[in-house]
Amino acid sequence: MNNNSVQQRLKSHFYKHFETSNSTFFSAITPQPIENPSWVSTNKHLAGMLGISAEELASEVCLHVMSGDLSQHSINSFAVAYSGHQFGVWAGQLGDGRAITLGEIAVGDNDELWDLQLKGAGPTPYSRFGDGRAVLRSSIREYLCSEAMHGLGIGTTRALCLSTGTTTAVREKIEPAAVVCRVARSHIRFGNFEHFHYTNNPKAVKELADYLIQRHFSTWTEDSKRYYLLLQNCVLETAKTIAQWQSVGFCHGVMNTDNMSILGDTIDYGPFGFLDTYDPEFICNHSDHQGRYSFRNQPSIALWNLNALATCFSSLLDTSEITDCLKQYENEYLSQYRTIMAKKIGLLEYRPEDEQLINQLLIMMAKDQVDYTLMFRKLCDFSAANQSVRDYFIDRDQFDSWAKDYLQRLESQNLTDQQRCQSMQKINPLYILRNYMAQTAIEAAEGGDYSEVELLLKILNNPYTNYADAEKYEGLPPDWASKISVSCSS
Ligand code: AMP
Ligand code: MG
Repeated sequence: MNNNSVQQRLKSHFYKHFETSNSTFFSAITPQPIENPSWVSTNKHLAGMLGISAEELASEVCLHVMSGDLSQHSINSFAVAYSGHQFGVWAGQLGDGRAITLGEIAVGDNDELWDLQLKGAGPTPYSRFGDGRAVLRSSIREYLCSEAMHGLGIGTTRALCLSTGTTTAVREKIEPAAVVCRVARSHIRFGNFEHFHYTNNPKAVKELADYLIQRHFSTWTEDSKRYYLLLQNCVLETAKTIAQWQSVGFCHGVMNTDNMSILGDTIDYGPFGFLDTYDPEFICNHSDHQGRYSFRNQPSIALWNLNALATCFSSLLDTSEITDCLKQYENEYLSQYRTIMAKKIGLLEYRPEDEQLINQLLIMMAKDQVDYTLMFRKLCDFSAANQSVRDYFIDRDQFDSWAKDYLQRLESQNLTDQQRCQSMQKINPLYILRNYMAQTAIEAAEGGDYSEVELLLKILNNPYTNYADAEKYEGLPPDWASKISVSCSS
């Protein structure tokens, strides 16, 4: 653990770097604290990674800082400007309307910088008509889901702590406000580049690219291909993240270009949803009437977004270099997705003929409305002698025919059933953050009971092991789950 407090460790790397062109990149802004703050939850695992002790994080001093009261500290807090395409349409300037960055802390032996950002700590110059607040309900969802994604090994912004208080925010009704401390290697979005490109400011595009290279890819600083490498990295990392989303059944819900991280991490948890039954047409955001961001569309939407980003690199790269980067997306996506799906069904390697096996399984699941997570978990136990996973399917004949091919494929590998089961259980989670689970935690929290948030944080941190106190989350969702409607309201 670090001897200095979080406040003392905060650096102003981004702030100082862009200070001279302040209003172009960011606006200095002091958060407005939540009144009478109290903890909902602190994330000891992440604190440990950041070198913050559990005691320090849970302290009163930290509570005040993390709920937006910086009055006792000299911290250069700021909100960043960005623009973006929303639902495929150019939306112009957006920016951190309710996120205020405190700075960065250096972590680990190589002093990697991680941003600390308060989401919901009051208005900024980019708030437009918003109040700068986030309600407890959506903050719990963000807090739990970012840690769930991390638990699943998917690149994501993290959540260090969650506080609430007596401050309220008006949405469809009056709701308690909350602040999440979001932690990320970078909060720079595709939209940060679009912001400068579409305001005809190639100098700022270059400055931003140079900043990212210096901070995240310092070995490239002298490389003549550095901008190509930066764009390529984004293309490849995005492809990897989206392949992981598809493999766990995660639907983001608002894949606007301002919600896409330049490092390819998952960012901005709004009306997201995990698949219950396998339905490729699943739309988790009830405001998405056209289904632009449906589960099935996510891989192609990511490429659409990458195109929008790549356009902004036209002042740094030749058209041929840009096209070359973008062309790598499909291959990378497919190769990542196939590798993961092969592992999910217990194959040591993906072979071209496995595509048929995987697709056939998904087609059967869609037809018979089989629960995505439970099926894969049950498939871990599959063997010649144990085919209880068959019970999930309605069309048993079709399943039996598939199972025959599957068994044959499994027999071509040099693995015992037990070995295969063990490795499959490490990639097929037992727990995912289903909407009803988040809803259960939210309803309890709104009544002042945070124990469900704690339980979910614990099990989602390691969703592959079963926990005796979480048995209730190991089965199908209850009937009322299908009636939960998640909109953009947050
Ligand atoms: P989102 O759809 O959550 O990614 O938000 C889109 C834009 O609206 C971003 O610029 C946000 O910062 C801004 N925004 C969303 N909610 C609020 C709010 N309550 N107050 C101020 N700005 C907001
Ligand atoms: Mg956003």
